[in-house]
This record gives sequence, C-alpha cells and structure tokens, in this order.
Amino acid sequence: MTIRAVISDFGGVLTTPLMNSFAAVQDHTGIAPEVLGRAMQAVAEREGKHPLFELEKGNVTEAEFLSTLAAELRDLLDHEPELHRFRDVYFEALDPNHEMVGLMREVKGRGYRTALLTNNVREWEPLWRSMLPVDEIFELVVDSAFVGMRKPERGIYELTLERLRAHDPGELGGLDFGECLFVDDVDVNVEAARELGMQVVHFRETEQAVAEVRAALGL
Ligand SMILES: [Mg+2]
Repeated sequence: MTIRAVISDFGGVLTTPLMNSFAAVQDHTGIAPEVLGRAMQAVAEREGKHPLFELEKGNVTEAEFLSTLAAELRDLLDHEPELHRFRDVYFEALDPNHEMVGLMREVKGRGYRTALLTNNVREWEPLWRSMLPVDEIFELVVDSAFVGMRKPERGIYELTLERLRAHDPGELGGLDFGECLFVDDVDVNVEAARELGMQVVHFRETEQAVAEVRAALGL
C-alpha cells in the first residue's frame, strides 16, 4: 500500500541518543541508569503502577515523580540523591539529530502527511519543542502527557490516526494505518504499530533509519 503519512517519535529519533542524557545524569548524580530503573521497578511492584508510565501519561507531575524516585533511591543508596537538576542535565546532553530532522522536513515538503507521536513529560514541553521547528515539520503532535495514554497502548496510535484524518477531512478517502509509516527507537512501540497494520522503521542508528525511510517512501 502507498504511504501517505509519516508518524515519528521524538526522543532518540529526532534527537541524539538518550543514553547520552542518562550518562550525563550519572555524571551529575552518581546514579547509574540501571539503578534508576531498579528504583522505578521497585515502586511499580509495590504500587502496581510504573512511576515513569504515570509521569508520561500526565497522571503525576514531574515534581511528584522525582520525589517518589528520590525516596526509593534513598533506600537503595546510602544518601539523599540530588535529582532537582534532572531535567536540566538531561536536556543539556541532548541535541537535535539534524539528519533525521532534515529528512522529516523533506518528507513534509514532498506533501506527505506528518505527525509527531511522543511519550513525554508535560513540564518538558517547552524544552523539547525548542530543539526543532516542530510546527513547521509536523501537522500535529500527540504527546502522551496531554492525552493520558502512552505508546505502546493501542489507543494513542488510534488517536493519532483520528487526528490526522480530522486535520484534513477534505482529502479523498480517510487515511488508514496501512498508509502510515511509523518511526521509533523502542522495540515495543514499533511492534504495536506493526500489529495495527502500519509500516514501520525501527530506528537503531541514523544511517540505517534514513535509508529505510527513504526506501519505504521511494525518495
Ligand atoms: Mg524514542
């Protein structure tokens, strides 16, 4: 089926690798990403809700998330962790992936429908938006923190398709999943999109992803 729309992730696709940010957090706090993961998992097992997922769905604030995480880390480490600069340190280590941003700009310029579908943090919106000309490149943004759902939940992909349809209701024949190309660096997000019938590119590194997007669109 011919592709008419491209739906792209933000973090790790339109940016440099997120592992750079977690390395910077480790430099600043002394806390390894695995330890952060273990603390979040412990909260998830105790409370039945994963704190990161709750943050990304906008169910808790960034401040609530960081205080939950700090309390858990206090039990894992022998000291009070310094997390209040988490956001600044994380974003300072993150840069736009200019090649991928340029590719998406070209895609939009060639007349493809475009959407950005991101699992994100409500309080981080000004920071990530300042990294690229979002509204020039994407017709619309679906941000987990504002819609109460996150990838890989089926509902957030359906909402993205609905919004693309609603954004250009005059076009002949509503857009279908099979006409969408989805680009993301997280395996489960890519698999969920594939199950819904979307064509997919699993971003692993820039050269591979650019080549696969170009091949899928015939650019
Ligand atoms: Mg990502």
